[in-house]
Amino acid sequence: MTKAILTLNAGSSSLKLGLFDEALEALATAHVDRLGAPEASLKLKDATGAAMPVPSFGPDDFATHTIALRSALAAFRNDLPGLEIIAIGHRIVHGGVDHAEPEPVTEVLLDHLERLSPFAPLHQPHNLAGVRASIEAFPGVPNVTCFDTAFHRGHPFVDDTYALPRHYYEKGVRRYGFHGLSYDYIDSVLAAEEPDLRAGRVVVAHLGSGASVCAIHNGQSMACTMGFSTLSGLPMGSRAGELDAGVVLYLMDQEKMGAAEITELLFKRSGLLGMSGVSNDMRTLEASKDPHAREAIDYFCHRVAREIASLAASMGGLDGLVFCGGIGENSALVREEVCEALEWAGVEMDVEANKAHARNISTGRVAVRVIPTNEELVIARAAKGALKL
Ligand code: ADP
Repeated sequence: MTKAILTLNAGSSSLKLGLFDEALEALATAHVDRLGAPEASLKLKDATGAAMPVPSFGPDDFATHTIALRSALAAFRNDLPGLEIIAIGHRIVHGGVDHAEPEPVTEVLLDHLERLSPFAPLHQPHNLAGVRASIEAFPGVPNVTCFDTAFHRGHPFVDDTYALPRHYYEKGVRRYGFHGLSYDYIDSVLAAEEPDLRAGRVVVAHLGSGASVCAIHNGQSMACTMGFSTLSGLPMGSRAGELDAGVVLYLMDQEKMGAAEITELLFKRSGLLGMSGVSNDMRTLEASKDPHAREAIDYFCHRVAREIASLAASMGGLDGLVFCGGIGENSALVREEVCEALEWAGVEMDVEANKAHARNISTGRVAVRVIPTNEELVIARAAKGALKL
């Protein structure tokens, strides 16, 4: 019998699952893509990250979140006989003002979180669909919610507000910040391995398809480049990042675009994809000879460096810089361009260590680290803690 904690990250058309044993050792992961479509697919990986054989499924086996969950778990059962799920932890993008800790799921909580959907319409409804699917697929198993906004609660007011009339702040128009599970994980690694550095002023750059940068002082998030939504700050795979609100007004007034069209433009057709016209994927851009691909990479690195400097200023200095996320962990080119632009701030890169993707890639006053993030572990840890397992 293998007792396991399941973690779930549910999107509109994807499900990412993680399985951990009671000691929080990773057992396996699963990724369902194109959920609900005829070409839906499932990938399984074991604890080492190696691909596991996938039993054959029909398209109906991934028709809904609930059915896909059952199918993915059935696939695990071939390799993990006697698998018993004892808790399910969920990544929820928005906890609003009131939810700063992981919470066991109740109908009252779900109702409250549903009311936050207008703040994150592209993510929150799908995250909650994942919770509902788990309740249906695994009746009686306790569920716990973990919020991407939670790590950022407690920002100083000047980094929590916008300069709008006060009542918008009261209504919830605030700088929430996201990627909190990733920042929480990086902070826990620094706490365990480099407590002196953690006590200082650290900027963490989570650079993946979605990207943000966070200022952390002594374990407390001070500011984040993502604010009210996951659209602000850095350019991303297909999201614009920082944008003069006047551009949106121009699109509405002059180009007669509505909210849905602008949402699609800013979330799906901008960023690296929009600038390059080549791809939203950093690997593809690095391999491309198209000059627009290079321009998109340069813009990305320039904005990352500017935002790191801005966050350092908000903390009064910089002691450490951590790269994580698919780009942060794997792109030596991006790390080098970013660090070069920050030499004036005391960032000196060990070029060979950077090329080798070493953990410590600095020679100067500012400690620069590459730390693979692990959001699933944070969720599993939180589920175990909240349920006192
Ligand atoms: P998500 O936000 O979907 O979790 P990831 O953290 O997996 O995204 O990051 C995806 C990004 O990481 C993509 O742009 C991808 O090209 C980039 N990436 C992954 N491996 C490499 C690599 N070896 N070199 C450059 N970029 C990479």
